Amino acid sequence: MGAKVGVVALQGAVGLHVEVLRDLGADPVEVRTPEQLSGIDALVLPGGESTTMSKLLDSSGLRAPVAALLADGAPVLGTCAGMILLATEVLDGRADQQSFGAIDLTVRRNAFGRQVDSFETDVVIDGLAGGPFHAVFIRAPYVETVGPSVEVLATVDDHPVLCRQGPVLAAAFHPELSGDLRLHELFMKGV
Ligand code: GLN
Repeated sequence: MGAKVGVVALQGAVGLHVEVLRDLGADPVEVRTPEQLSGIDALVLPGGESTTMSKLLDSSGLRAPVAALLADGAPVLGTCAGMILLATEVLDGRADQQSFGAIDLTVRRNAFGRQVDSFETDVVIDGLAGGPFHAVFIRAPYVETVGPSVEVLATVDDHPVLCRQGPVLAAAFHPELSGDLRLHELFMKGV
């Protein structure tokens, strides 16, 4: 069996991450309780609603063990709301939402516009062979500032939309919706 990859499944776009990971030969596990993190090699924080996920991280008891995994340097992929939850600073957030601060980014929620302004576009991803990646943005955040240790792998309108800092990969878009496995493949290379 492949690497055990936890997909935090409190809310949001969980199912397709699980499918993509399985297609890549990993062993995905939907994580709703701290016990389900046992033996996890890597983690996905999916898209959805970061304010809701933040609440559910507390009520599920997952916040502390996930923070511990991140502090241990476990590879993590955060997409959209997941990017927000990994960032060091969140603009236009709710006062009570909390992020893990695992990647040195300031992100602005819903920055590309409201639901009606969701869009798809082809982005060129640094180091990704096979041409541009068709990226689906849904009430996406964008990155306002990146810290010195952050690599920007893709931008849209000069805004970083894919960033990496060590084992942490954060995308403003939903790579699981494209039918293109390459971004998850890139993530799995680090696992
Ligand atoms: N706007 C959402 C938030 O703030 C993110 C949207 C998404 O994950 N597709 O959490």
